[in-house]
Amino acid sequence: MTRSEDLFARAQTLMPGGVNSPVRAFGSVGGTPRFMVSAQGPYLTDADGKEYVDLVCSWGPALLGHAHPAVLEAVHAAVDRGLSFGASTPDEANLAAIVQERVPAAERVRMVSTGTEATMTAVRLARGFTGRNLIIKFAGCYHGHLDGLLAAAGSGVATLALPGSAGVTEATAAETLVLPYNDLAAVEAAFAAHGPNIAAVITEAAPANMGVVTPGEGFNLGLSRITREHGALLILDEVLTGFRTGYSGYWGLTGGAADATDPWTPDLLTFGKVIGGGMPTAALGGRADVMDYLAPLGPVYQAGTLSGNPVAMAAGVATLTHATREVYSFIDARSLELSSALSAALDSAGVDHSVQFAGNLFSVAFGTSANGVHNYADAQAQETFRYAPFFHSMLESGVYLPPSVFEAWFLSAAHDDAAMNRIFDALPAAAKAAAAA
Ligand code: PMP
Repeated sequence: MTRSEDLFARAQTLMPGGVNSPVRAFGSVGGTPRFMVSAQGPYLTDADGKEYVDLVCSWGPALLGHAHPAVLEAVHAAVDRGLSFGASTPDEANLAAIVQERVPAAERVRMVSTGTEATMTAVRLARGFTGRNLIIKFAGCYHGHLDGLLAAAGSGVATLALPGSAGVTEATAAETLVLPYNDLAAVEAAFAAHGPNIAAVITEAAPANMGVVTPGEGFNLGLSRITREHGALLILDEVLTGFRTGYSGYWGLTGGAADATDPWTPDLLTFGKVIGGGMPTAALGGRADVMDYLAPLGPVYQAGTLSGNPVAMAAGVATLTHATREVYSFIDARSLELSSALSAALDSAGVDHSVQFAGNLFSVAFGTSANGVHNYADAQAQETFRYAPFFHSMLESGVYLPPSVFEAWFLSAAHDDAAMNRIFDALPAAAKAAAAA
């Protein structure tokens, strides 16, 4: 028995499925989840002492690589000053100022502890501000595990092929309109039918929880236009893409790009993952007049014992300070190299596939070369069975991929030539395993 097998057997007697977040259980790829004991740069080390090149990067946060010295130093210094004060601290404003400088649409920022809290607050705030009830979300987008947004959700809900979640009341589900992604006509039709009752459209800035799906040209711009026309808000969920797909997130690549012909601006944005550099921090930002509806200024309540935690703030400030434009250019280049090598290996093995991009984020889908993947229906129609053998071959070769085909691959500034070469060496055998499935 390996140490991971041992640890998993024990964990299953103590925690549902042996895990604290479903996809970690390897449900869709099978086998024993590897229990990790340390991480450094681009590498993870499991409980049996095996080292992996990490392409999960904690599902995004480890933009600089694991245990970046400047981040550790800032965290150690913060820990020495105390873990939590339950009062305001200087670094909260420092992190908020960095967010605002990079994403000016975040005129006010509120720190929370998880992406789920950020989107949950955004939805409540949109309803409180507009006095309307309905929320539009897109099938295959994941916004965290708040009741109202679990319908046709991506991430683990897609991985486990669940229609939604038990425990969500019909009344709650009825207040969410689920539409196909990349379909502005469907959005127009929903507003034509329900416009006066729609508080907000929430969308991932670029979907990365049904695999990566590229927003069609003008899609986010169209959402911005339609919501404005109808007095609804646009909530741009950048929990995954924010400060990862670029200096100013995915919005910075499109809506906020210097050469954008039709710049668009969301009313509210949510951030998570990279903003905390590996510590539990997320944030909500947006228009000052909307954000000021939050308590203590306004009538929409939101609070958190550990919100703006000083250790997490220190990690966030250090991470974003070191996430320079050069870091993003480096990761962009690595992403192109890796996705090209992946495609070449799959082509050599005769595996039909497509690779979808959103900036430096990408994922692979099998059997989809004819049309690519533009929405959740396309993502679900792919040959998902090819991923498990591909994943396990890579794992065997010392490369840790997301344990689900519906997740993006994450690179970091620490993925040096040695790490990349290890991935390139592993690809041909994995592609053959996918072909044989
Ligand atoms: N929104 C998006 C786009 C996400 O990818 C995620 C998590 N993967 C969340 C929200 C929820 O964040 P958290 O897991 O921190 O609650």
